[in-house]
Amino acid sequence: MSPRILRPESIAEACDLLNQDGDALVYGGGTALQILHKQGFLSASSFVDISGIPGLADISIIADGLRIGPMVSIRHMERDAMVKQSIPLASAAYSKVANPRIRNTATVGGNIAHGDYRLDPPVALLVLGATIELSSIGGIRRVSIEDFFVGFQVTEIKQGELITAVEIPVSNKITASNYVKLSSLSANDWPSASAAVAIIGNQGNPQTLRFALGALAPTPVLSTIEISGLQEDEIIEAALEQAMQMMDPLPDIRGGAEYKRKLGRVAVEDAVRNAWRSNPSE
Ligand SMILES: Cc1cc2nc3c(=O)[nH]c(=O)nc-3n(C[C@H](O)[C@H](O)[C@H](O)COP(=O)(O)OP(=O)(O)OC[C@H]3O[C@@H](n4cnc5c(N)ncnc54)[C@H](O)[C@@H]3O)c2cc1C
Repeated sequence: MSPRILRPESIAEACDLLNQDGDALVYGGGTALQILHKQGFLSASSFVDISGIPGLADISIIADGLRIGPMVSIRHMERDAMVKQSIPLASAAYSKVANPRIRNTATVGGNIAHGDYRLDPPVALLVLGATIELSSIGGIRRVSIEDFFVGFQVTEIKQGELITAVEIPVSNKITASNYVKLSSLSANDWPSASAAVAIIGNQGNPQTLRFALGALAPTPVLSTIEISGLQEDEIIEAALEQAMQMMDPLPDIRGGAEYKRKLGRVAVEDAVRNAWRSNPSE
């Protein structure tokens, strides 16, 4: 039987619906949900379509960054002038998701809730230190993106909760950033390896490198290294040494574990080099 489509008009109503029915699923853009449902990988008694709830497709400025509604489309994140200007790393990672058809329909909330270890945006969100707001009938809780991905396709979202915002800090301490996605089947396919990098410090005085890997372990993974006083090749070497310990690739049709490790090294080296070379030296 096809799931019923429920259309709440407020977050409180959506939380009530999710609380009343443990087999209900939130419907974002439906790009993952429709496929998984048709293939029989998940079943639901109803889909709670949150597209009619006012404000959930908005991007707004908050004290320390941007607050992104869960129904903001991935295409919007890719193209929004404020996002591009203040958090270019996010804009770069969202621009790499699948193809324009998917990006027009898929949403920010649906993307991270999907919890796939290969997703592009979470890699950038980890480096940027995003926070996920989860709402339920019990109230609101906020989870750091570092704690959000808890295992292979498992997230911190509990039954009865929905994502109501993703908050991304805007920091003038990030002096350069870069996102590299390497796919082995086609340019807009899922990545076989990805890396996001941010150089943090004052202009002319880089202090820290934050980088994250995607598709190279059962969840996206983050690391930070001190780079004060180091030269380009030394930073790359330090990042690669760290990255090799973080990688635990899953073999699949996009490559074996050893191949993905090699691609992972290339992704890290390219991302660090690109960021370093775009870093203002004065
Ligand atoms: C052909 C194809 C190629 C793809 N390639 C890539 C790629 O290269 N890179 C990449 O990053 N991704 C890729 N994807 C995945 C794509 O990013 C996801 O399908 C999409 O982001 C999911 O967003 P959605 O809004 O459509 O979510 P939905 O399909 O609506 O939902 C996905 C999951 O999230 C849950 N959910 C949705 N919204 C919320 C919410 N607000 N709160 C709590 N739970 C929620 C749903 O219940 C469901 O479990 C690809 C997908 C396809 C179909």
